[in-house]
Parts: sequence; C-alpha cells; structure tokens
Amino acid sequence: MRLISEVAEPELSSLGLELGLSEQEKSLQLKLRDFCDAVVNPAAKLIDQLPASAVGKNALFWEMYSSFNSLGLNVDDLYLSTDKLKANRLKSIAYQELGRGDAGFAIGLMVANYPYVMCRLLGRHDLAEKAAGKMGCWIATQPSRGSDVGDIEGTEKPNESRHQPGEMYAQINDSEVILYGESSDWVSLAPVASIAIGYFPLREKQRPLFNKDGTTKGIGVFVPLDSEGVSKGAALEKLGQRTLPQGSIKFNHVRLPIDHIIAGPDDYRASMLSALCEGNHTMAAVFTGCAQRAYELAMEYSHNRIQGGVPIVKHQAVHLRLFDIFRRIESMRAVTKQSFDYNALAKAPHLLSATVAKVHVTENAVIAISECMRLFGGKGLIKSCPMEKLLRDARASVTEDGDNHLLSLKAGTYLSWAHTGFAKPEF
Ligand SMILES: Cc1cc2nc3c(=O)[nH]c(=O)nc-3n(C[C@H](O)[C@H](O)[C@H](O)COP(=O)(O)OP(=O)(O)OC[C@H]3O[C@@H](n4cnc5c(N)ncnc54)[C@H](O)[C@@H]3O)c2cc1C
Repeated sequence: MRLISEVAEPELSSLGLELGLSEQEKSLQLKLRDFCDAVVNPAAKLIDQLPASAVGKNALFWEMYSSFNSLGLNVDDLYLSTDKLKANRLKSIAYQELGRGDAGFAIGLMVANYPYVMCRLLGRHDLAEKAAGKMGCWIATQPSRGSDVGDIEGTEKPNESRHQPGEMYAQINDSEVILYGESSDWVSLAPVASIAIGYFPLREKQRPLFNKDGTTKGIGVFVPLDSEGVSKGAALEKLGQRTLPQGSIKFNHVRLPIDHIIAGPDDYRASMLSALCEGNHTMAAVFTGCAQRAYELAMEYSHNRIQGGVPIVKHQAVHLRLFDIFRRIESMRAVTKQSFDYNALAKAPHLLSATVAKVHVTENAVIAISECMRLFGGKGLIKSCPMEKLLRDARASVTEDGDNHLLSLKAGTYLSWAHTGFAKPEF
C-alpha cells in the first residue's frame, strides 16, 4: 500500500488512467495524436460524405496514407520485431490513437500492410518484396460464406452438417494454382488494393473438398491484383467506416505459379487464425480509441451546453452517465492491452484472447458512443455532429472481422475445451 501524503488530481490523459508508458510509447502516441488531428480527422470528415465509388479516387484519401508514411514509422518495427511485447504495446497505443482519429483509416492501415507482413513472417522475402509499399487486402469471405469462414474449426455448426463450399475457390496442379469465382462485397480496401492474400476453399475437378468435420479444405494464396483474369466489383455503399472502401474481387481462371501458395491445406487453419488474432486485437485498440474520442467530445459538450440554468455537467445524472462511459472505456483499454500482451507472451497468439478484447470493446463502444450521442441531445443526430459518424463507424465493427456472436460462441467452445481437456476434433 502507498499513503497519499498530499491530495492530488488524478493523472488523466487521452489514454485514461494508463500510466507507465515508455518514452518511445509516449512519443509515438503524441506523434500520432498530432497527425490525426491535423490530417486524418479533417480528411475523414469529408471523405465520410462521399459516395463509395468516389473514395478511392479522392486525393484526401491518398494523402492520409502518404502523410502517414512520411511520419517515418516503420511497419517492420511494429510487426516484425523480435521483441514482440514491446512491439505489441506500441501497436496497441498506435491503433488507439489512429482509431481516435478515424476508425476506417486505422483499419485500412492494418489491412494495407497485411500481405507484406504475412509474407515477411513466413520468410517469403520474394513475395514480401512484391508487396512492399503496395496497398494490400485480405480476401476470405464470399457471398455464401461469411461466418463459416470465421468458424475455422467447424465447432459452431451441427456435427453432421457442412460449411458452405462457396463460389470462390482454387484448384491446384503440379505447377500452378488456378483461382475462380468472386469474393463477398466486404473486402476492405478492395477498390484500391494492388496485392491480396486470399483464403480459397480447394476443389478438385470442380468438386469441393471437405475435411471430416465438415469444414472446407483451403489454401492461402498471394495474389497480385494485376494478374490476368482479376477484376473488381463496384465499391460497396455501406453504413460506417466510409474511409475504408470495400468491394468484391473476381477471379476468372487466374493462373499463378504454385509458389504463390503461402499456406497449404495443412497450414490453412493456423494461417487463418493468425490473421483473425491480429485483426481482432487491432480492432479492439481501434474502437477503444473511437470511443475515447466520443467521450472527450461529450465531456466538452457537457461543460458548454446549458440547461436548467447551468451547464448540463452540473446535473448529477450527467456525472453518472459520463462516469459510466469512462469506466467502460477504461475496461476496453485494459482488455485490449491484455490481449496484445497475451498474444506477444503466450507460446502462440490465441483467438480466445483476441476475441475477449474485440467483442468486449466493440459491444461497449456501441453502448458508450450511443450514450455520448445522447448527451448531445438532438444535436447528436445531425450530420455535422461527429457523434453520428462515430456511432456508424462503431456499429460496423460488431460484424467486422467475424460477427461478435459467432466469435463469442467460438470463445465459449475454447473455454469448455480448456476446462474439460476435450481433444480437439480431428480434421
Ligand atoms: C466493416 C467490415 C469489414 C470487413 N472486411 C472484410 C475483409 O477485409 N475481408 C473479408 O474477407 N471479409 C470482410 N468482412 C466480412 C466479415 O468478415 C463478415 O461480414 C462476417 O464474418 C459475417 O459474415 P456475414 O456478413 O456473411 O454474416 P452471416 O455469416 O451470414 O451471419 C448472419 C447472422 O447469423 C449469425 N450466425 C452465422 N453463423 C452462425 C452460427 N454458426 N451460430 C450462430 N449464429 C450464426 C451471425 O452471428 C449473424 O448475426 C468485413 C465486414 C465488415 C462489416
């Protein structure tokens, strides 16, 4: 125990009660704070109002990425450092700040670098070289395969049933992998990406291949999107995260050398789980930052808006509401940090840890931001008020990177496995 010798103010920052940041973490946070305030936030406000088809053609969209690149932050330091704990702590702070700036842009940065990072981690320097500096994307879901993609071990379906085989697939011969069909409309950055990593169910003579447990056999493929036979669908008009343009990618007999397979059938699950773990804990950081922004704005507004002859913050009920929002965000930040720490320190990252963070944060972000919006009264609902965009951005997150219900079901299964020591089903 420590004694309080002098009554002092709490030490609050934009990371709440988080103390003990290293000098490097503090400087990263401040750098990104300034960058988001100066570049990302104003650009995102304008891009948010554009039709989806115009986003990727807008100079402001590209300026966000080029300005970020000129900050001199090194993707390798954040994703490839051997000091995983240090790197993950930096990432957790970076994505909170970026999420506070604009959630769609923050997610876009993660997705854009995904093919490069994955290839580097796999030691595929030949492919990493092709991906370096290019806008990447992650293709996994299909029109008829959404949650079935995320249910990687096939635990959340009746035993006797099978996952949807999908309409996008790969066939392999001795020297080539050949890609067919179309992804879902939800591929983030698809309209602007030039490189992808795609997760394709396998077929043999057009016949879908299933594992014994009813999941599809699959492979991960590195796909240059200028390959012959690749085309793109229209940009998706959607609610929220409008700075993250999305759309489908189509494959018409796309032939690639066999060495473009980055995960064969035996590595498919581990590769998908790696992507989901990274995606989910990053989302937790982003939407902690997004909620933090809403809280700061609501706190400021509560001190300025006068009703009952006093600023509304003077009403006790408003104190309670602000505190409720604050404590939610504190728990979001804590669970995010824990997930980044776990995924750095454990023998291997685990979806259970990333899911606790992603589900807890995104569900609470919707509640917290909605309450912030209510503190703005009617003003919270109008387009010129930032609350309206923040709530839309957060709402998309409960489905993004795996619907929260499906992720929670899987997490429950992992807990039960851990408790009973059940052997995992064969596949
Ligand atoms: C903002 C955003 C970004 C995205 N980015 C990408 C991307 O970059 N690349 C990509 O490939 N995809 C991306 N997605 C797609 C995303 O992964 C899917 O939307 C998500 O996995 C859910 O799939 P679905 O939309 O087909 O819903 P469905 O799977 O059809 O689910 C519909 C409903 O049924 C429920 N449900 C489904 N299966 C089960 C089950 N087994 N048990 C209980 N309930 C179930 C779900 O919880 C949900 O409520 C993105 C989505 C969003 C919203």
